[in-house]
Amino acid sequence: MKIHWQHSTIDSFNFAGRDYFVKRDDLLTPLNGNKARKLYGLLDAYDLSSYKRVISHGGAQSNAMLAIAQLCKLLNIEFHYYTRTQPKWLKQTPNGNLKQALACGMLWHINDSGLPLNTETSLDTLYIPQGIAMPEAELGIQKLADEIKTFCDTQSLEDIAIFQPSGTGTTALYLQQHLPYTVYTVPCIGNSDTLTQLFKQLLPNATRYPVILESEKPYHFGKPYPELLEIYQSLNNASGIEFELMYDAKTWLVLKDWKCDLPILYIHNGGVSGNNSMLARYRRLGFS
Ligand SMILES: *Cc1c(COP(=O)(O)O)cnc(C)c1O
Repeated sequence: MKIHWQHSTIDSFNFAGRDYFVKRDDLLTPLNGNKARKLYGLLDAYDLSSYKRVISHGGAQSNAMLAIAQLCKLLNIEFHYYTRTQPKWLKQTPNGNLKQALACGMLWHINDSGLPLNTETSLDTLYIPQGIAMPEAELGIQKLADEIKTFCDTQSLEDIAIFQPSGTGTTALYLQQHLPYTVYTVPCIGNSDTLTQLFKQLLPNATRYPVILESEKPYHFGKPYPELLEIYQSLNNASGIEFELMYDAKTWLVLKDWKCDLPILYIHNGGVSGNNSMLARYRRLGFS
């Protein structure tokens, strides 16, 4: 099965008095966001259809989980996904990304550690680390960088500030390796120390790392905060684009007040399929 990968477009909008470009990786098909970019690299490195199964692990609403489940469905191979113990209601009535991944045929395993017994790739099993944070992802991110450079060349933009939210930091790190412009990133899981460590683990000898900007206040990943919901809603209204409620919302809180004289390009990493389950949590808490 040959997957047809596309380029994504770049749109622009005004938000809170400033113009932004936005790279619409959320519109990529058949998979979207930076997880699609990472899997593009993985598919180049491995002949996936020669494997019987793929195994991975992480959060029960992970965007990486859904992207891998969609890919395995397209390629017709088994996908085993491991999470830690989950609330009973979620097991009984899966929602959000979990529901969609299960509908793709994902086999869900729950245990105390949240890890598979074996995390080795063998002849018939391909192991994908949490968040698809792996060197093989680089090629797909390089392709994203090339699209950005072409855009800047055609628009005669000599310099531009790139904004990319970080989880594992894989996307921001590889993007910076392939761009002459500075990549700015906000740690959405952990803080700048843990993100710096992740960068150094993946690429100990890089000559250039992304610039990390932190929010004034700490935010726990995946926890609801009224100001995140608020900026998500005002961004939706201003841009007509749906952004994502965890990574994007926190990153835009930082970006909105950030001083910069250069044009700004924000990378929309997709993942809006997870918004439903998050919006349901805000409603249960009485915000909305
Ligand atoms: C996974 C993800 C990120 C973070 O990507 P990393 O490469 O792990 O840093 C950012 N935004 C969205 C929407 C994501 O799904």
